[in-house]
Amino acid sequence: PITPTEKIWMNGELVPWDQAQIHILTHSLHYGMGVFEGIRAYETAAGPGIFRLTDHMRRLHESARIMGMPMPYAVDELVEATKAVVAASGLPSCYIRPIAYYGYGEMGLNTLPCTTEVAIACWPWGAYLGDDALTKGVRMKVSSWSRHDHNAMPPAAKTTGNYVNSSLAKVEALNAGYDEAIMLNPQGFVSECTGENIFVARNGRFLTPPLSSGALEGITQSTVTSIARDLGFEVAEGVLARSDLYIAEEAFVCGTAAEVSSVASVDDRDIPIGPMTLAIGREYARTVRGEVDRYKDWVEVV
Ligand code: PMP
Repeated sequence: PITPTEKIWMNGELVPWDQAQIHILTHSLHYGMGVFEGIRAYETAAGPGIFRLTDHMRRLHESARIMGMPMPYAVDELVEATKAVVAASGLPSCYIRPIAYYGYGEMGLNTLPCTTEVAIACWPWGAYLGDDALTKGVRMKVSSWSRHDHNAMPPAAKTTGNYVNSSLAKVEALNAGYDEAIMLNPQGFVSECTGENIFVARNGRFLTPPLSSGALEGITQSTVTSIARDLGFEVAEGVLARSDLYIAEEAFVCGTAAEVSSVASVDDRDIPIGPMTLAIGREYARTVRGEVDRYKDWVEVV
């Protein structure tokens, strides 16, 4: 369950947590067209530091653009609003959830007359795939559900409706005794996980499927690509087949919520938890806390 915090920002105002309510006939609840983000703030000596906040708000705008959804607030306004919510919470670290959705007033599939509403909430949220996901690894299952085709649902948009597919895959994996699912695209190649991008090491270098594979363009994916290269590892975007997973030298999944989590196995084929993944995961933990000089600008202090 979510632990409530002080305030939620709704359409320009900070409102008490319990009063951040919407009508049952809110358009997006019925038809799934909303766009959202998942962001983390980490404790730093200067106060809560929100990791790549501006980049997340840019992606929120891009998601809205893909969906043809008007956005009533500029990126810098959303950045300031997020800082206000985190400051009001008094929390040293937290998870942050901005969402833009079509509100109450219109029904039916024509969204042209709809009005976009925006809310930003934050609350405490621990490691998504477990505290020891980096060192012990997670058990993955290739899902029977495919990742969205580009011409059915736009996978590059972080739109609420896309997550029906992710939830189906996640629950299928959990019910089968695994921790997380890997989604293949309709062409049968590896795309990503239900809430994380994936990196697979083959012949000494990491490959990660790009946007064209149907994966979300992950901000953590971009962060760990930079970190891995700084550490001297080779990383490239690439096409991965299911077999690449089974004979991986190392593999990890990453996302804002999951951070860097090692892959311990895929479909019960064990994968070594390797030194490259551990080094990248440890450097990521320092980077998000503003402890790595070259990436200090990514930490946006409240
Ligand atoms: N893929 C999906 C489907 C996701 O939901 C997420 C989490 N937003 C990611 C990848 C990772 O993205 P990010 O690193 O920007 O959190």
